Amino acid sequence: MKLLSDVPEGESVLLHICCAPDATYGVPAMQERFRVTGFFFNPNLHPGEEHARRLQATRQVQEYFPFALEVEEGGEKEWEDAVRGLEGEPEKGRRCEACIRLRLRRTAEKAKSMGISAFCTVLTVSPKKDASMVNRIGREEGKRAGILFIEADMKKNNGFLNSINVSKMLGIYRQKYCGCRYSTRP
Ligand code: SF4
Repeated sequence: MKLLSDVPEGESVLLHICCAPDATYGVPAMQERFRVTGFFFNPNLHPGEEHARRLQATRQVQEYFPFALEVEEGGEKEWEDAVRGLEGEPEKGRRCEACIRLRLRRTAEKAKSMGISAFCTVLTVSPKKDASMVNRIGREEGKRAGILFIEADMKKNNGFLNSINVSKMLGIYRQKYCGCRYSTRP
């Protein structure tokens, strides 16, 4: 297990960004120790306008906390394939595991292709995410790709509260559902 504090300061890290509000906490928290490049890859987002909205809000965060941002489009078919048969699962269940795995696998592969030796995600800022699941998937995908996954539970130390406050201060879009069409159900 590699926690934030175990990894040498100044390391380059590819940080998966699922949405702007989570990035308002996750990006500066990681920038305190590392050289951060953001990675926006979220083929789970539905409808397409939602993807555009969240990306645009992420660019607003990028202006405020300057960082390099890689954006990867596509992946929708892979996502549909990954969650097929899991449509009725509750949040934090097996559909979410498949969805998070797809995104972290791509992040690990991207980091490797860029010569970046570590990756992480801001997904754990949300109290709706099971940090132990996210970290387990990250470890597994890091092992698979042969690079380091930095484990974290970013909702701790008021991370979630901080994300709400900074998002309000910046006036950025805060979504009301996780992202896929199944998470829009009442
Ligand atoms: S609820 Fe969220 S994490 Fe789960 S499958 Fe949908 S978008 Fe992915």
